[in-house]
Amino acid sequence: MKHIPEIEQKPLQEIKFFQEEKLRLLLGHVSLHSPFYKKLFTSHHIDVNSIKSLEDLSRIPPTTKDELQLYNWDFLCVSTDRIIEYTTTSGTLGKPVTIALTANDLQRLAYNEYISFACAEGTPRDIYQLMITLDRQFMAGVAYYEGIRKLGAGLVRVGPGLPAMQLETIQRLKPTVLVSVPSFIVKLIEFAAQQGIDLNKSAVRSIVCIGESLRTSDLELNALGKKIREAWDVHLFSTYASTEMQTAFTECRFGQGGHHHPELVHIELLDEDNNPVATGEAGEVTVTTLGVEGMPLIRYQTGDMARVYTECCECGRTTLRLGPIFGRKQQMVKLKGTTIYPPGIFEILQKTDHIQDYVVEAYTGSLGTDELKLYIVAPDVHVTQVESSLKSAFQSQLKVIPEIIFSTPSALDQKQLEGRKLKKFIDHRFD
Ligand SMILES: [Zn+2]
Repeated sequence: MKHIPEIEQKPLQEIKFFQEEKLRLLLGHVSLHSPFYKKLFTSHHIDVNSIKSLEDLSRIPPTTKDELQLYNWDFLCVSTDRIIEYTTTSGTLGKPVTIALTANDLQRLAYNEYISFACAEGTPRDIYQLMITLDRQFMAGVAYYEGIRKLGAGLVRVGPGLPAMQLETIQRLKPTVLVSVPSFIVKLIEFAAQQGIDLNKSAVRSIVCIGESLRTSDLELNALGKKIREAWDVHLFSTYASTEMQTAFTECRFGQGGHHHPELVHIELLDEDNNPVATGEAGEVTVTTLGVEGMPLIRYQTGDMARVYTECCECGRTTLRLGPIFGRKQQMVKLKGTTIYPPGIFEILQKTDHIQDYVVEAYTGSLGTDELKLYIVAPDVHVTQVESSLKSAFQSQLKVIPEIIFSTPSALDQKQLEGRKLKKFIDHRFD
């Protein structure tokens, strides 16, 4: 049994009309109930009845993260007695934002995750081991839990961390799918190896990976994905989601980017001037939630940079796919005219042999341009080799070579502790 919603197999023009119908419902809802959008429409002289097509949507200015943070409760469209769940964003940049859900929103979230798991080959016969938290107001935990319930599969809630307990549960309850942050899977693999346990003999056949990209922009597995696959013959499904959009983009078995669910969200990729990027170009993921009752968002700028892929997928879905997030808009570095993001740099550093540790530092040069310094720790005997490997990798993959400085472990620790937590990317450009 595979559940593919009918709309996800329709011609693109039909999907567009379908979304426009949903958009009109959304605009009607927010123009009556959202203090934030009512004010926005008035101040920009926008008559919502005149917005009929997806193209018309561009007349509404995008909503920024700062606005959502600053006017958080002005986004609420229902009375507080209708809120049944309070979730927050992770707050990695700035103060956390509360996203409040109604009973209908929670059902929408369950549907979203149900079709996402179905997209990732999930069936009622599967047993899912949830290696993430269901607490701490973490929306994804609730979403996965509800989605698996709707799918009718088995559930094992182990929670995050604890490699010994995860491994013991894998052996005892024989889950077929894990839901985890991929870098934790690397730790689990190391732990299993230390215990002399072969994970390939477990019942696990796939891992739904959250929070970190698994692929490069050409949709091949990145260093992290390869590291897992080399040790463990499992299928890796990459996902992209955020609390604000209350929606996930999950890969199907063909691994060609996360599938868009047109019944749940409208997506645009915008350039620095908030215009749509050309087909195939990278832009900021900007979402309009569809069907959300409590805190709907219109043209919300996520800060995540990605590409979309529009050719038809072999799985039969006609919907577009969202590629891996290759960075945060705020972390974009223009080095000698070339746009690069920290994850692209990390990818090269992780693939280079003999590098024990590293820190990437961005700063503003004397001419006002972005500059980058890579601080590397490597054994003395390998320094020359590391330097030449890095230079050729940067030249071929990013077309530009940052300044490379060899450092000591203690000097690097000092740098990484400058912030509140250990950082691999230190940005001095806005100091
Ligand atoms: Zn597909």
